[in-house]
Amino acid sequence: MILHIEKTKGLERAQKIGDALKAFVIEEQDRYVLISSSSLKELPKEYEEDISAQFVFDNDMQLSSRKYQKQTREVRIGDKVIGGSTGNTLLIAGPCSVESESQIQESSSLLKELGLSTLRGGCYKPRTSPYSFQGLGLEGLKLLQRMRKEHGLVIITEARDASHIDKVIEYSDVIQVGAKAMYDQGILRACAKINKPVLLKRGFGATLQEFVQCAEFVLSGGNEQVVLCERGIRAFETKTRFTLDLCGVSYLKEHCNLPIILDPSHAMGHAYGIPDLTRACVAMGVDGLLIEVHPTPKQAKSDAAQQLDHASFRELYASLSAVAAAVGRTIV
Ligand code: PEP
Ligand code: MN
Repeated sequence: MILHIEKTKGLERAQKIGDALKAFVIEEQDRYVLISSSSLKELPKEYEEDISAQFVFDNDMQLSSRKYQKQTREVRIGDKVIGGSTGNTLLIAGPCSVESESQIQESSSLLKELGLSTLRGGCYKPRTSPYSFQGLGLEGLKLLQRMRKEHGLVIITEARDASHIDKVIEYSDVIQVGAKAMYDQGILRACAKINKPVLLKRGFGATLQEFVQCAEFVLSGGNEQVVLCERGIRAFETKTRFTLDLCGVSYLKEHCNLPIILDPSHAMGHAYGIPDLTRACVAMGVDGLLIEVHPTPKQAKSDAAQQLDHASFRELYASLSAVAAAVGRTIV
């Protein structure tokens, strides 16, 4: 359950009530928010008058539930806002991995040419094999930092594990938590303590409940800026890399107040399907898209098969605004 206590009651009292209920206590502008798995029956009588609002849930979707906050939460990413009543669908693009200065310069130029603001590239890659390219690490983060400085781009990059989370937090504007890292408590708890948006990808074997519970780790720790990303789950099919769970997206849109971004690139795993899938994703009326694009996909050091080349990306981009308009959205 979630309880509100007005600021006038004082932090000490809010903390006492929090202790009695084994609750997380978050300080907001004019109230304390207590989140607990206890029931109202466990609230000592003497504190009843301190509670200004109460919300009871039947599962652990609490802060992220539309029963708690009806409207989608607003999250600012650079100078763009998604969620709320903005109707914005943020197009996030870039290569799977940052590979070299010339590569990331070319990616940045493509985004600038199209008026896009948000560059994504991985520096710590969670590869399936230890023998594959693992990312440039800190050197890659420094290249991304240069792209922010030189081109004014907003930088999204991922943390593979908690060992380098501080560096990723320092160098990026938005922290991506990848599918394989979704359960990493070290990453989630570190992300809960910062004032930067977190792009949380769904583990490919995770249920919607588990996905949202991971988001709750970040929210209940005090960071309200969480964006969910559906990137495909593992089903029995082997011809495509994963299965993009659009039914799950509908579930989340109905029940969950966090903005949702769709990643068709990792779901499909092949460049040929990405344009159609991206348009289908826009038609879902989501808050953003994550598309992998590379200057020379064949030479990409990770996820080569699924990355669009620049010409295909330009063509795809040109087709999106009409689809977005049809569902009352704007590509930004
Ligand atoms: C990625 O975004 O490049 C990536 C590794 O994706 P995921 O974590 O969804 O597999
Ligand atoms: Mn990738």
